[in-house]
Amino acid sequence: MKILAFAEQREGKFKKSAFEVVQTARKIADQSGAQLVTLVIGDGLDGILPELGLYGAEKVLAVEDTRLHFYSTTAYAKIAADAARSVGAEVLFFPASQMGKDLAPRVAAKLSAGMAADCVALKFENGEITATRPVYSGKAQLDVKVTSQVKIYTLRPNVFTAAAGTGKPPAVEKYQPQLVESDFSSKVTGVKVSEGRPDVTEAGIIVSGGRGMKGAEHFSLVEKLADVLGAAVGASRAVVDAGWRPHDEQVGQTGKTVSPNLYIACGISGAVQHLAGMSSSKYIVAINKDKDAPIFQVSDYGVVGDVFEIMPALTEELKKMLEK
Ligand SMILES: Cc1cc2nc3c(=O)[nH]c(=O)nc-3n(C[C@H](O)[C@H](O)[C@H](O)COP(=O)(O)OP(=O)(O)OC[C@H]3O[C@@H](n4cnc5c(N)ncnc54)[C@H](O)[C@@H]3O)c2cc1C
Repeated sequence: MKILAFAEQREGKFKKSAFEVVQTARKIADQSGAQLVTLVIGDGLDGILPELGLYGAEKVLAVEDTRLHFYSTTAYAKIAADAARSVGAEVLFFPASQMGKDLAPRVAAKLSAGMAADCVALKFENGEITATRPVYSGKAQLDVKVTSQVKIYTLRPNVFTAAAGTGKPPAVEKYQPQLVESDFSSKVTGVKVSEGRPDVTEAGIIVSGGRGMKGAEHFSLVEKLADVLGAAVGASRAVVDAGWRPHDEQVGQTGKTVSPNLYIACGISGAVQHLAGMSSSKYIVAINKDKDAPIFQVSDYGVVGDVFEIMPALTEELKKMLEK
């Protein structure tokens, strides 16, 4: 069996989810006796490819073209499908990142592959992969076996481990598919990087605010707590719809899915659509003045209280502790 793992990079830097995908694919390859090939697409990649060896990549297919500097749905899908065919891959792994969510279904369609999206666990047993994925907005988990010849799995970021080992740099093969202008019919033309805090999908800690913050001006409390912890700032849809926070901070069913180590929900009720985006966080702390708020049902620690009293005190205490 051959496995193809897609390692996502942007601006010459691998996303953390790239390492998670490669290391998970490595584990499945070791258990199944499969050969693992890692696919990297972009521009000017030479300097970053050796790092993949630390996560278990032995062979890398590198596709480089200046036109691939930014993500192109159509070109990346064509390249990934062509690479899978040329390798003879039967199992493909992608991250369930923004890019992976866009790319993997298109590759699946090109390869007539079945797909299990947004997996949170994988098990290899009796020659088969069983994937676990949340359903019904995270209220249940489903074990899925993909039965098509070619199988695709997307892995939820921050759920699978990516611990650098001591592997040697992988063997790199330059792969040059024929690309014509029409392959770039859908492409990113520019990227505006938001400055300062990390993105919610990548952060280890998220401090998130809801309607209980009472106004955009009070989000300075969320920002201060986030800064002390080196955290990202998240938001409920209610505050995004109200224009208090930008949409890229929205967590939930129609926002981003996050799995940080720590999620602090401040003045968020815990509607099912919000929980859909954050209930797989490792530790959840909620601050809410309503002891019956649904967010407490998924919380590891809960503070029943007023955010305007609790948050400044918590920020101050954490600051003192972390400065020591
Ligand atoms: C199709 C669809 C998709 C949706 N997608 C999303 C999504 O992606 N993300 C999302 O978040 N929502 C989503 N929603 C909206 C969701 O249903 C809720 O309306 C929303 O999550 C509520 O946001 P909230 O918790 O900030 O506000 P509220 O539900 O109004 O809760 C505010 C909370 O703050 C508490 N509070 C008030 N004052 C204080 C205080 N001083 N101190 C402490 N606590 C206080 C209250 O007790 C309350 O629990 C979606 C809805 C639909 C229909």
